Amino acid sequence: MPAPFRPRKRLGQHFLVDPNVARKIVEALQASPEQPVVEIGPGTGALTGLLLERYPRLTALEIDPRAIATLQTRWPALDVRHADVLTVNWAELAAEKGEKLHVIGNLPYYITSPILFALLDARDVLAEAVLMMQREVAERLVASPGSKTYGILSVIAQLWATPALLFPVSRHVFRPRPRVESAVVRLTFAQPLPDVDPTLLRQVIRTAFNQRRKTLRNSLRRLLPPGQTLPAPWSQARAEMLTPADYVALTRWLQRSSP
Ligand code: SAM
Repeated sequence: MPAPFRPRKRLGQHFLVDPNVARKIVEALQASPEQPVVEIGPGTGALTGLLLERYPRLTALEIDPRAIATLQTRWPALDVRHADVLTVNWAELAAEKGEKLHVIGNLPYYITSPILFALLDARDVLAEAVLMMQREVAERLVASPGSKTYGILSVIAQLWATPALLFPVSRHVFRPRPRVESAVVRLTFAQPLPDVDPTLLRQVIRTAFNQRRKTLRNSLRRLLPPGQTLPAPWSQARAEMLTPADYVALTRWLQRSSP
């Protein structure tokens, strides 16, 4: 086995050292054994060994060559690829496997949000994702309208997927310990997307939340056709009061009223 390496903070390397937590995470995956599973950031393999026992079609994506060397020594037959998860072509990988992918990973926390947005964008070729992340981000994913943590990520995640917060994880089960607490979330990508222009929908959500203190009548003004005003009750509401379904209805209204 190669000498253990020094964890790199800038790569978000906090390794899970509690086998019970590792087992719980792997058991949260709903894939059956013949389905393709992709692990993001396997590191030294806290989840990888357990995954391989159940899922022979496992592919692991890791950016650190030192971790790849460790994994290849432990599991010579493992399909581990040197990749930056943010540039992975999920559609190509799913086409290679011939079916939708089940994604799992203890995420590198410095890029949690971009990874989540990339997975949500790739929803057509994904079945589910079981992900450990900062508890604060996990709470944002499932936040309800009106709460402080409800924002762009909540609305997009709840429209593009069904997020479920499964269980919290203490910072004490990692080496080195991260500063923040963690939680495991499952995103299920089964439901059909709402019948609305997705680019406009995203633009509406972003524009509204970027000025979350303003009423929508003001914050969305520049998206309206000249001379149009937003109807009540949307006009007087603020971004955090609208449900994901309200954003869809509002975007449909904008589509209809644009020339
Ligand atoms: N799965 C291991 C565990 O549970 O102990 C490691 C988890 S650690 C929190 C995050 C892992 O993601 C590290 O192995 C790190 O090298 C890897 N990583 C960081 N940035 C990455 C990127 N852009 N693409 C792929 N892997 C990355």
